Amino acid sequence: MGKLIAANWKEHPKTEAEAFALFKAVARTPRPSGVTVLVCSPFIYLEEIAREWKRMPPKERERLVLGAQDVFWEDQGAYTSEVGPAMLRSIGAKYVIIGHSERRKFAKETDAMINKKIALALRDGLKVILCVGEALSVREKGVDVAKKFVAQQLLKDLKDISIKAGDLYIAYEPIWAIGTGRSDKPEDAREMAMFIKSSLKKSKKISPKFLYGGSVNGKNAADYVQLREIDGALVGGASLKAEEFKKIINAM
Ligand code: PEP
Repeated sequence: MGKLIAANWKEHPKTEAEAFALFKAVARTPRPSGVTVLVCSPFIYLEEIAREWKRMPPKERERLVLGAQDVFWEDQGAYTSEVGPAMLRSIGAKYVIIGHSERRKFAKETDAMINKKIALALRDGLKVILCVGEALSVREKGVDVAKKFVAQQLLKDLKDISIKAGDLYIAYEPIWAIGTGRSDKPEDAREMAMFIKSSLKKSKKISPKFLYGGSVNGKNAADYVQLREIDGALVGGASLKAEEFKKIINAM
């Protein structure tokens, strides 16, 4: 199965010119066969990047896809500042990250809100990357406690949603590993991958793809992605440095 390397630019970079330069550098980086690169830019840059993507010769944009970092749970209406999945689809986005821990924390997103977002995004044809992961205080109680925590998130976030094969990625991002330089051990991430896949096989009859996220860089990316159970990586900080991100792509 192919691997997905997803760049989560978060609230970066500060100018459109920098965003464009970064996108072009990513686009120019050859993608090894079987590797798809996803760029999730801030909404404000996404449209222009999508325009550039459409201008690229088909060969050059092969296995290069675009996504958003969030989406709303209504397609349109009186919801000031929100962006719906149909809008994202209409400009060429294929993926959306939902439930990132930074949105859970800073935007006070609840599992119920995340659940509504996933339901509509899937209905409107986006592929969803659902982020889950425990805080350090949970992980310190052991991997089994972390698994229980993640199982609860999955239960609530995917409640009553039926999912088609290939439409859902679970990004396991332990909060303590995000932006800290302290990545999870590949064997622990693998254990979580097996746990999540088998839980969703039982409860939803699907086999989601699994991404690891949390301080992935050019040096450690291959340690995760070479594992059969891990289908790719969600990369924050290192995706903002073109050279570092190139190393991650090349490590595939
Ligand atoms: C993220 O926020 O999705 C992430 C994985 O960040 P970082 O790679 O910087 O840890």
